[in-house]
Amino acid sequence: MKRLSLAAAVSGLILGASAFSTQAVADQKFITIGTGGQTGVYFVVGQSVCRMVNRNSDEHGVRCNAPSTGGSVANVNGMKSGELDMGVVQSDVHYRAFNGVGNFEEDGAWGEMRSLFTMHGEPLTVVARANAGITEFADLKGKRVNIGNPGSGQRNTMDVVMNALGWTVNDFALASQLDAAEQAAALSDNNIDAMIYVVGHPNGSIQEATTTIDARLVPVTGPEIDQLVETYSYYTHSIIPGGLYRGNDEDVPTFGVAATFVSHAGVDEDTVYHTVKAVFDNFDRFKRLHPAFANLTEESMISDGLTAPLHPGAKRYYVERGWIQE
Ligand code: GLU
Repeated sequence: MKRLSLAAAVSGLILGASAFSTQAVADQKFITIGTGGQTGVYFVVGQSVCRMVNRNSDEHGVRCNAPSTGGSVANVNGMKSGELDMGVVQSDVHYRAFNGVGNFEEDGAWGEMRSLFTMHGEPLTVVARANAGITEFADLKGKRVNIGNPGSGQRNTMDVVMNALGWTVNDFALASQLDAAEQAAALSDNNIDAMIYVVGHPNGSIQEATTTIDARLVPVTGPEIDQLVETYSYYTHSIIPGGLYRGNDEDVPTFGVAATFVSHAGVDEDTVYHTVKAVFDNFDRFKRLHPAFANLTEESMISDGLTAPLHPGAKRYYVERGWIQE
């Protein structure tokens, strides 16, 4: 009798425990962050945010993963379709997607986008084989150029630049559409003369290209570029510092955008709150996760380049920290 009641008590305990863990699982929220190619910086942004979030999953119940994707445009489309909750998106793509203008006119405005914060700067970066006879952007005409996969931010920005110059894909001997992570090998294998990447520095892809072969960063300047910077507030003149990559000791002038971190409006307030909290409560640790994050400041991260309104969960945290007014 005694034994029986003990067994009953034990089974009661087990039942209770499993009911409890079912409850805990039900409360867990899984978020998926869209990034970019594995040798770029977006992938590290997503992985780093998840690392910070997942440190305290037991407390807040949010679990995060950040798979590799085709880049900015793929991330916008993934959030629209509900496959992704959050994503890293170039500030120019962000603006055009939110407002439904330029190369997003056909898609229409996506008013459901919400801003969390801005990350690092991303200069339009052209890398050419040293012996390809490419010393300025105009030299790309007639060459084999990887203009990027259609889901990428660089492809979207390249379309704008080509448009400004009056170029089409027919102006290149070859306009390939390789993914970001495939470009460095294509350049090294002499399948293309130049690759184009809108990306933070330093990054693995350009390190790969410049260490495998002699390759040079090419300036992106001229009246059409000045005009783009003048017309669109999300474009700025920028410099890729010399000395980051083998054989490239001089500063290289170009223009660029910023990487922004955004979500779908439908992601609940607590989840976004815990995501931004995880980043900014551990900010020094976070910044050490990639050299492109070294110069980030809280102040510019919550103000620069954010077209879409702040998500209420992000706003709650920034108000709590006294960074913005209610
Ligand atoms: N800016 C690129 C894009 O939007 C991605 C850069 C990166 O992966 O760091 O596709």
